[in-house]
Amino acid sequence: MRWQMSETPARMMMPASYAASDANSRGRRFKEEPPKHRSEFQRDRDRIIHSTAFRRLEYKTQVFVNHEGDLFRTRLTHSIEVAQMSRTIARALGLNEDLSEAIALAHDLGHTPFGHTGQDMLNACMQDYGGFEHNLQSLRVVDKLEEKYAQFDGLNLTFETREGILKHCALKNAKALGDIGQRFIDKTQPGLEAQMVNLADAIAYNSHDVDDGLRAGLISIEQLREVELFKSLYADVVKDYPELAKKRVIYEIVRRMIDAQIKDLIAASQKNLQQIAPQTIDNIRQQGEHIMSFSEDMWKQHLDLKRFLRENLYRHYRVIRMSHKAGKVIRELFDVFMQDIRLMPPAYREKARQAENKYAEAGRARIVADYIAGMTDRYAIKEYGRIFNPLELT
Ligand code: MG
Repeated sequence: MRWQMSETPARMMMPASYAASDANSRGRRFKEEPPKHRSEFQRDRDRIIHSTAFRRLEYKTQVFVNHEGDLFRTRLTHSIEVAQMSRTIARALGLNEDLSEAIALAHDLGHTPFGHTGQDMLNACMQDYGGFEHNLQSLRVVDKLEEKYAQFDGLNLTFETREGILKHCALKNAKALGDIGQRFIDKTQPGLEAQMVNLADAIAYNSHDVDDGLRAGLISIEQLREVELFKSLYADVVKDYPELAKKRVIYEIVRRMIDAQIKDLIAASQKNLQQIAPQTIDNIRQQGEHIMSFSEDMWKQHLDLKRFLRENLYRHYRVIRMSHKAGKVIRELFDVFMQDIRLMPPAYREKARQAENKYAEAGRARIVADYIAGMTDRYAIKEYGRIFNPLELT
């Protein structure tokens, strides 16, 4: 059999004039010598991979708590999946692949332990102190919390990577952020790489949550056959391979789901690009709407699946039961550290003291939130035991 080359090999795609590049980058907050053997965005990606927050993603989860099983996605494997999809899409559209990868690998760095529950609870705890937003926290991690360099706090990433990390942001927070928050005030767009990774993230979690949910037995193929995107692919797979074992049917469908969404995203975005005909990255930023987009039909299917997962997986009683416990862990840790900062390790205690001198109680709360947000699932559970279980005398 002869291998067929695709009509326009993606690897030969030239960078588009509106893609981010070292030449049009808005640069770093602290000036540095340009890298010798890497692009600026490769350097960003490398700094992210070497960060402490990145390694912690291995023990943080979205739906399933880490100890529930070894096969489920963690935030680390999720981020790697997002990076893989982002690179494919970037290459197909002539976008900056290095930047796309950097944004994808960093996009979840600010997530709390215990997924959405951890986040909602920490936000509730921080209500009187400015709230807690995970996107903002991801930016805080790369701008401030990583302590790796002699000359600056954080990783000193490029504007474009930081722009991609800050997906959403409340207006009051945007105002305090300067250049990076400006687009939320002006209601303009980020570069295409940022827009794209955002959608690759959605494709990744929609698809892998189907896979994990089925494997955990929380949702069934029968239920999923009510969802259009799954239903048609299921019919194709069963028709092509009537004898296939159930496990492989699932993989085959999930694989095709990812493929269908990515192909649609590339085609629909290409169409938008042809219509708008941008020349520069600033043309992209000036648009009132996103250019990266699914077709109307795929949007509908994508949102349908999302709704299905919310109703049937994220609100499954076993998930709610675990969330209930996780929320309790976060709330009680927050309250106890607020009451007595000496219960935190010395470095955090010292930071809390300094922040309190500057910003009163809100300063203390922000450092407590940083400490809790940085915890992995299992660290939070251990810390809870160390503080509240009198039998754990360590
Ligand atoms: Mg994500």
